[in-house]
Amino acid sequence: MRAWYEVEPGEREGDERRGLLRRFGAWHDPLPQVIATAADVIRNDVWWMRTPLSAYHQGRVALLGDAAHAMTPNMGQGACQAIEDGVTLAHLVASSPSLDTGLAEYTRVRLPRADRIVRRSARIGGFLGSESRLWAAGRDAALEGLWRLAPGRFLGSFDDVFDWTPPQVAAAAR
Ligand SMILES: Cc1cc2nc3c(=O)[nH]c(=O)nc-3n(C[C@H](O)[C@H](O)[C@H](O)COP(=O)(O)OP(=O)(O)OC[C@H]3O[C@@H](n4cnc5c(N)ncnc54)[C@H](O)[C@@H]3O)c2cc1C
Repeated sequence: MRAWYEVEPGEREGDERRGLLRRFGAWHDPLPQVIATAADVIRNDVWWMRTPLSAYHQGRVALLGDAAHAMTPNMGQGACQAIEDGVTLAHLVASSPSLDTGLAEYTRVRLPRADRIVRRSARIGGFLGSESRLWAAGRDAALEGLWRLAPGRFLGSFDDVFDWTPPQVAAAAR
């Protein structure tokens, strides 16, 4: 089932620039000007994997990046997670007694973490994405309040995302 903030695949405005100006034309400078003077405006669908894969490997083949866990761009984590995948995969394949165990360990380590971020990113997209002015005003007030009252708590909620340590570094520290 589609969430309220999602649109039909392939849905287009016809004139995407006009659509952007309708949404952001009343924002502060220079946003309206940037949109009005951009050479071109492209619009692509954003696909994300609502249902996670059961594994990131099969036989001798491993998936990484968007092929394994395509996510919405709301946390800016898609490419970051692809890099974590690559670093982890290289380490596990090189350090495991066999390719089979290295790839199985890759799925075991990476799938739960990436899937958590996929879900969180989609939740944040839903929270941020409403076009309702009333919702947006409530959301902005709540975020500003949280930021003022408990900035550490707000930023700390991302610690588990940003505190990732490459397995090579973690292994060397042990
Ligand atoms: C609007 C937006 C903003 C984003 N912002 C951020 C951000 O701030 N931070 C962040 O970390 N991530 C961000 N991302 C996500 C990030 O762009 C992707 O997660 C990342 O590019 C995934 O990398 P990838 O190598 O897995 O896949 P891709 O970048 O899609 O690379 C796959 C490549 O394979 C090629 N290819 C496909 N099929 C074939 C084929 N059959 N033969 C040969 N080549 C093929 C494709 O052309 C492509 O070049 C954003 C995404 C979007 C849409």
